[in-house]
Amino acid sequence: MSDQHTLRLFGNTMQDIELAALLLKQGKLVAFPTETVYGLGASAFNPEALRKVFEAKGRPADNPLIAHISSIDELELLSDDVSDDARKLAEAFFPGPLTIVLPAKSTVPKEATGGLDTIAVRMPNHPIALSLLSMSGPLCAPSANVSGRPSPTNVYHVLEDLDGKIDAILDGGQCTVGIESTVVRLIPTPMILRPGMISAEQIEKVLGKPVGIVQKHEHAIQSPGMKYRHYSPKALLHLCGTHEEFELFSRRLPQAMKISGHVTTQFGDIFPLKESTYYDILRSADIKGVKDIIILFTEEERIQKPALFNRIEKALSKE
Ligand code: AMP
Ligand code: MG
Repeated sequence: MSDQHTLRLFGNTMQDIELAALLLKQGKLVAFPTETVYGLGASAFNPEALRKVFEAKGRPADNPLIAHISSIDELELLSDDVSDDARKLAEAFFPGPLTIVLPAKSTVPKEATGGLDTIAVRMPNHPIALSLLSMSGPLCAPSANVSGRPSPTNVYHVLEDLDGKIDAILDGGQCTVGIESTVVRLIPTPMILRPGMISAEQIEKVLGKPVGIVQKHEHAIQSPGMKYRHYSPKALLHLCGTHEEFELFSRRLPQAMKISGHVTTQFGDIFPLKESTYYDILRSADIKGVKDIIILFTEEERIQKPALFNRIEKALSKE
């Protein structure tokens, strides 16, 4: 679809959710809310619809999609090889912000896997998403933004990037988590490919074995999507590790927007450093034409909020 009207549907009426499911079954693209960020849905078994997702987002073809399901049983639709570990994680964390990478069934289109022999799967913890998925069947749904931009956490963000490029959007209000799911692979050993709100420690507890965290230089090999520059506002980000550095930048750039988890009235308005509002702050900076954003993220906070720190690092990366 190109430059046509994007139909606005409301997640609080069953009729609209049914219409969204019908559109998806017809191979159309529908954005929908999840607890993490808004997803751009397309039928997981329809290669043509999946190709339109890449086109609408401007997403590189080798960046695989995450399939979304509405029950643990549906794992079998996507993989012939659901291991005991995978089942343990699904039982512990589904529905929730965890994506599990599994060997892909031969019927899964290559458009969903980015040409890999594995498929990433999750079950979102959102009543509208679950209701939609139970009618539409599995959907591939990357974040509903233009590739490289901050992920969308409400319908206005989605429309900013994709109005006229997708068939419909299902309004479910604000996403509560606000950053993307944790992605974990299990073969040959458990490894977090993208950090999220479900931590390595939580996964270790369920599996009863150590879980690695993929290092920056391994991103391209382990998880194709992680090699691309991501989550970026138009403004320049300045990452500070100490209060002193933050003060210095704030004095040097008095017009800058500031993000910090520490309260101080010295430098005007400061936006909070937290996952649920981070992308909204970046997008509002762009709307206001802000040129610089100064972020205070201390060493201690980097340990407490690894997923948020990962998104900021990715936004700063030159790739
Ligand atoms: P997004 O859809 O924008 O949330 O991005 C999906 C993320 O999941 C990207 O970082 C992908 O690299 C990762 N991913 C999806 N499928 C796989 C897979 N089969 N193996 C490894 N990583 C994957
Ligand atoms: Mg994304």
